[in-house]
Amino acid sequence: MPKKYYKKPHKIQKIAKERIKLMFELAKDNLRKDSRISDKYVKMARRIAMKHKIRLPSSLKKRFCKNCHKYLVPSVNCRIRIHKHRLIYYCLSCKHYMRHPIK
Ligand SMILES: [Zn+2]
Repeated sequence: MPKKYYKKPHKIQKIAKERIKLMFELAKDNLRKDSRISDKYVKMARRIAMKHKIRLPSSLKKRFCKNCHKYLVPSVNCRIRIHKHRLIYYCLSCKHYMRHPIK
């Protein structure tokens, strides 16, 4: 029997989206104190998004590493280059490349 997929109520998703936004703001604030705390906030934000089946917007997707889920800060722990109409993000801690097309 096929699995039943039902849409979650709109209200709950709205709250979840607000919480994800808040998590990324907190990650940004805590970066100077301890980068491990901001990594934890990224983890929490990702978990909320997965639980409520919310797609993270591209602006937030660029802020953490897809491989090690670390909070990325250009020139601190990540390098950004432009190549063939794409933004290339290079994570300095796990040496993983991420490519984002430029629109
Ligand atoms: Zn990484």
